[in-house]
Amino acid sequence: MNKISNHLPTNELQALDAAHHMHPFTANAELADTGALVITRADGVNLTDSEGNQILDAMSGLWCVNIGYGRTELADAAARQMRELPYYNTFFQTTHVPAIALASKLAELAPHDLNNVFYACSGSEANDTNIRLVRHYWAAKGKPTKKTIISRHNAYHGSTMGGASLGGMKGMHAQGGLPIPDIDYIDQPNWYVEGGDTDPAEFGLERARQLETKIAELGADNVAAFIAEPVQGAGGVIIPPETYWPEIQRICDAHEILLIADEVICGFGRTGNWFGSQTFGIKPDIMTIAKGLSSGYAPIGGSMVSDEVADVVGKAGEFNHGYTYSGHPVSCAVALENLRILEEEKLIENVRENTAPYLAKRWAELEAHPLVGQARICGMMGALALTPDKASRAKFASEVGVVGLICRNRCFANHLIMRHVGDQMIISPPLTMSRADIDRMIELAVKSLDETLVIMR
Ligand code: PLP
Repeated sequence: MNKISNHLPTNELQALDAAHHMHPFTANAELADTGALVITRADGVNLTDSEGNQILDAMSGLWCVNIGYGRTELADAAARQMRELPYYNTFFQTTHVPAIALASKLAELAPHDLNNVFYACSGSEANDTNIRLVRHYWAAKGKPTKKTIISRHNAYHGSTMGGASLGGMKGMHAQGGLPIPDIDYIDQPNWYVEGGDTDPAEFGLERARQLETKIAELGADNVAAFIAEPVQGAGGVIIPPETYWPEIQRICDAHEILLIADEVICGFGRTGNWFGSQTFGIKPDIMTIAKGLSSGYAPIGGSMVSDEVADVVGKAGEFNHGYTYSGHPVSCAVALENLRILEEEKLIENVRENTAPYLAKRWAELEAHPLVGQARICGMMGALALTPDKASRAKFASEVGVVGLICRNRCFANHLIMRHVGDQMIISPPLTMSRADIDRMIELAVKSLDETLVIMR
């Protein structure tokens, strides 16, 4: 019998973890010295660690626990489904009720004619599906040369070979021989870091027009799609200037390029609407979904596909693609219950009308801190750009990320989970945060920033 439980002392759990568990995005050898933070329970917006500390989770896990922790309705939905039908697949003309019910619900919630879902187990898998789907679509339309997918430097689209290739993260490409062929990149609309003296609106247009230049360079006959997150999340919560998305939409429409909105973070209320595409007025042909779809309570993702694309692919014979767990009944049942809660408790309206405006007001106050050059926010996702000189938006003399890591560590010490991306601190808290939770988060953030300043001096 496995005797490892919450009752073991923290150092024993950490030693076993360091000995046997290879963590994602971690220098594993360091764990033998530092030990990983062991989380044992969670409720609402709070985590409890193995020492009994209460930690405010301003990241919703990995941007995913939109309805907050501890919703037993989801546990009940999973248990019910496991008893009734724990597994069946959706290959070869078979289906089951949870997959049908969730697909119908998603068709109702998704904007315009995105009425079709291809299920995956994660955002990465869904983006792998998208690569194959768009290429298959164009081949079926008699345009097999339309294969290249254009993405953006510093985008994050997942960690599989396909997802990481679509992403524009240099550190990921450097390992494992990426990107795969026929993926190309333009620059991100990151005005704070790359905008210089250009006015943000002008900068947004310039960055969007790089897409048109890239299409001309490759030839529209060779380009299948453009993929982007409405707001770049893992890249540092990069909120594009208002001019950006309308221009991108115009260019995709003008050149017959499919538009894929990766809604893995922005979907299911994060930006104050069901989807980031609605917040930014985007009309995608495909949306990648995951994370908030089940609030992280069960692994599930998918591609929401327009009627036109689904119709062409559907009539092109068998699509030779799928996962054993595509439309897993337990994940579908959990996702359905999550969507019921988001809808019936009006959590997204509440974000839009109450929580996000209050968060925006409190977040903006942080710009008064000597270390903060910009406090930007979109719905329930935000970033603090740290700088030694606000006026010039200068970088620190130390290597990028050193100050961010100090600040992240002070947050951890103060029982606040904020993440750092380079020297930017980011948040993506549960949509269910109360005003009191927001006040506590701001108080802990200020304390952590103050302590960072002291360490730097
Ligand atoms: N796309 C975006 C925009 C993401 O932020 C992520 C994960 O953070 C992914 C895709 C990959 O999702 P997953 O980790 O579920 O594979």
